[in-house]
This record gives sequence, C-alpha cells and structure tokens, in this order.
Amino acid sequence: MVVQTGYGVKSAQILVLPGDGIGAEIMPHAVRVMRKVTEGVIDLHVDEADAGGISIDKHGVPLTPETLRAAQEADAVLLGAVGGPKWDDLPVEQKPEKGLLGLRSGLDAYANLRPAILFEPLAAASTLQPQFVSNLDMLIVRELTGGIYFGEPRGVHVEGNVRRGVNTYVYDETEIQRISRTAFELARKRSHKLCSVDKANVLEVTQLWRDVVNEVHADYQDVELTHLLVDNAAMQLVREPKQFDVIVTGNMFGDILSDVAAMLTGSLGMLPSASLNSDNRGIYEPVHGTAPDIAGKNLANPLATILSVAMMLRYGLDAGEQADRIEQAVDKVLASGYRTGDIMPSTPDDSIQQVGTDAMTDAVLQELG
Ligand code: NAD
Repeated sequence: MVVQTGYGVKSAQILVLPGDGIGAEIMPHAVRVMRKVTEGVIDLHVDEADAGGISIDKHGVPLTPETLRAAQEADAVLLGAVGGPKWDDLPVEQKPEKGLLGLRSGLDAYANLRPAILFEPLAAASTLQPQFVSNLDMLIVRELTGGIYFGEPRGVHVEGNVRRGVNTYVYDETEIQRISRTAFELARKRSHKLCSVDKANVLEVTQLWRDVVNEVHADYQDVELTHLLVDNAAMQLVREPKQFDVIVTGNMFGDILSDVAAMLTGSLGMLPSASLNSDNRGIYEPVHGTAPDIAGKNLANPLATILSVAMMLRYGLDAGEQADRIEQAVDKVLASGYRTGDIMPSTPDDSIQQVGTDAMTDAVLQELG
C-alpha cells in the first residue's frame, strides 16, 4: 500500500522484473532514475524477481507463484521485457510470454494505457509532417482482458470438407463499465475530453459498448464525450491526431489503433505503457520486446523504460510532479542532441551525438540534478 507518513514522504513497495535481453540490460538504469527522482519524496522499497526466459532457466516456469504473489502485494510492478530465441521452440504454454499473460490476468490488469507523446526534438522522426504531430500528447485506453481475443467459442473446425474459423466478440456490461470509468477518470486528470471508439453501426456488441459508455457518462458530466466508428478513428488518427486527448476502446480495436498512434511518435524505443486493475495497481513496461539483435551491446534505448517509470509515478504512486520531472528531463536530453541508434536521424546532423544505453541514462540523471 502507498503510505503517506507524518513527514509527507510516501512509502511504496515496487517489484522489479527485469526479464530478458535488453529488458534486463536497461532495468538497472531505469531503477537509478526511479531512485533519483523520488529521493526525499517517496521511500521506495524495491524487490527484484525473475520473469520470462530467465525464470524458465532458473525455476522451470516463466512465472512462479511466489513472483505472482509478490506482484499482487506490490504497489506497482516495473517490467523490462521477456522472451528470446533461446525459448522460441518451447510449446506455447511454456513460453516466456505466458508469464506475462499470467501476470496480467493474476493482477486483473484490464486497462492498458498507451500514451503517444511526441517529444519535440524527434518531430522529424514521425512519418507525418511535423505540424501535424508537434506537441502531440494523447492516451489510448484499451480494454485488455476481454473482447474477441478471449471470447468463446473459438477455433478452426472442419465441417464436411470445409475448414471454418470462429472467434467470438463478446463483452458484458460490467467489463464495459469498468474500462469506461477508468477512461473517464483519466480524462478528468487531463483535458476532460474522451472519445469512445466502436463499430456500433455493424456489431451489436459495440452497440452495447456505446450504450454503456453513455450511461457511465452520467457520472462524469464534466468530461466531453464523443463517439467514433473505428474506421473513421483510424483515418482521423493519421489525418489530424491532435484532435484527440483520451481514446477508450475494446481489445482488438485498441491493439491496432495504439500501434498507429505509436508510429506517429517515431520509435519503439520511446514508448511506455501501463496495465492497471480497478485499484490502480498494475504493471508498467516499455512497449518494445527484448531486441535480441542488439542485446548486451549497450545500444538499447532506455527511454521507453524510463518513461514507464514516469507513468508508474503518475498513475500508480500519485506522484505526478516526479513524473513530469522525468518527462522534462527526457525532453531536454533529446533537445541537447543525445540519441541512441534507433532514433538517429537518417541524414547527417552535427548537432546530434549517438550514445549508448549508459550515456543516455547518465544524461537523464544529470538533467534531474
Ligand atoms: P522487439 O521490440 O524486441 O524488437 C524489434 C526491433 O526494434 C529490433 O530491431 C530491435 O533492435 C528494435 N528495438 C526494440 N526496442 C529497442 C530499444 N529500446 N532500443 C533500440 N532498438 C530497439 O520485437 P521482436 O524482435 O519482434 O521480439 C524480440 C523478442 O521480444 C521476442 O522473443 C518477442 O516475443 C519478445 N517480445 C516481448 C515483449 C514483452 O515482453 N512485452 C513485447 C514484444 C516482443
């Protein structure tokens, strides 16, 4: 539990799961940033455990019951990334990624938050012209534990001599209510604008989605609510992304739209995420994977994980000021010309300096003072 002490210093229990590949490589750097920015403000108790491939190697499973329990008891979980070629040939049930799913379902982390923030110095890295993405700061809230990815019946069956594939798109109203509430609460912390995305003209399940979002809106009259069909939302995201602040949508539409929004900001190495439950507890992690092609070479961009720490502070520990400080430090470091390989400009530029994971983190720490 996040505890407010008599001296105004909070205390919080953090579980760190570095994982594999660049996940494990970056994590010590992200923890340095986390400790630095919380000095004198939050009394952090940080535990570390194995998840993913390293857990398979050491304990025979990608997530042990002890690690899951520690995650459930923590105020927040900071995760690197899991997986890699070493474990690729294992059966699906035993793969490192199964540990990640176990963690999400064990924490009932149904709300996936994917911000798309464009840091000004990287405006040229977007596939859109800078004027369309300059100052872009939006948040996609994706329902993560329901919808067509989990609906039953599912599978491929042979009927007669014909193969038939089936998935089921299903939501009940309680699932829609809780993700809507999360999104309205987040919109309240931002610009009081929420856009709900569905396909209500064709799919009955998303007609229910729209009805329930409207019902929940009654409790959030201070938030301006709009609805968009998913095809139009995809078009608007690449036409004029800055019209959006918070978007809420189901699992499949959110999966697709959050990748579109991510691309607007440039690189995978810059993207944080959070997966939260109804107590606002959850998992904070970069969107990228373990990048086996660059792991162990001091080439990985640590900023996605460092920005995940900022999300953890803002949404998990109610420390928005410290989150802002991290984001401002990242902005300044980029403005000073520091880049890891993944965000280097394609044309030569004397004001830009390529650095490794260590030096990028050191630059952020220096900005934090
Ligand atoms: P990936 O995200 O690991 O890498 C894709 C490309 O982006 C690679 O060229 C990589 O070098 C580059 N890249 C990614 N993050 C970077 C960073 N921080 N700095 C610089 N470059 C970066 O995706 P992949 O190659 O499809 O997957 C590799 C492994 O990671 C697989 O085993 C996959 O299952 C796993 N994975 C895990 C997660 C997770 O743990 N959440 C997510 C995605 C993939």
